[in-house]
Amino acid sequence: MIQTNLKEVKSRIQAACETAGRSSQEVTLIAVSKTKPLEAVQEAIDCGLTVFGENKVQELAMKYDAVDSSVTWHFIGHLQRNKVKQLIGKVKLIHSVDSYRLAEQISKESVGKNIVSHILIEVNLAGEESKFGVPPEETEGLIREVSRLPGIIIDGLMTIAPYTDHPESNRIHFKNLRKLLVDINRKNIDNVNMDELSMGMTGDYTVAIEEGATYIRVGTGLFGAR
Ligand SMILES: *Cc1c(COP(=O)(O)O)cnc(C)c1O
Repeated sequence: MIQTNLKEVKSRIQAACETAGRSSQEVTLIAVSKTKPLEAVQEAIDCGLTVFGENKVQELAMKYDAVDSSVTWHFIGHLQRNKVKQLIGKVKLIHSVDSYRLAEQISKESVGKNIVSHILIEVNLAGEESKFGVPPEETEGLIREVSRLPGIIIDGLMTIAPYTDHPESNRIHFKNLRKLLVDINRKNIDNVNMDELSMGMTGDYTVAIEEGATYIRVGTGLFGAR
């Protein structure tokens, strides 16, 4: 099933890239394997997928230990400070940093392990109360503070758009995330030169690609319903 789904996802990525005049090389597909068993991850690896996303530290650590080390992991869920230690060193990118205190913890643990952790700042664009993420108007300020921490590099911005059956209605949020990234880059903040946009899920990734996504996070579209 994953094989068939992957073919479909790849062709939709390709089509969206063509519409937008982008190269499909610019878009990394993150296979969101949360709640799915190890066998599903292994099946996905056998289909050629190498980049996976998880939203719980324990589940990520378990799968990390169990599969080939050539696989890269992304953390996409809400991160508690007391779980940071367990995560550092296992992931290529943490997509969900939305507070200075969390960034400080990531910095501390990274320096302790003598590594540099790459992060994205999660922005709550639609102002949904139930969601994590920093409001757009506070994003630059947070980035200014986080950029001074050692052992941490801000690669870009991430957003979780509202769930919808009408992907077009999320276009505005994807546009706004890109605009925010461009605006902040123009401020020439020391150590800040962001080029990654993590946006788009199963329901809306083609629209996100058209608006500049460099990472799309697809779960259901690859693994089926959770
Ligand atoms: C679960 C999840 C996804 C994948 O959602 P699908 O709709 O199944 O593609 C993407 N991003 C985040 C942050 C998630 O938690």
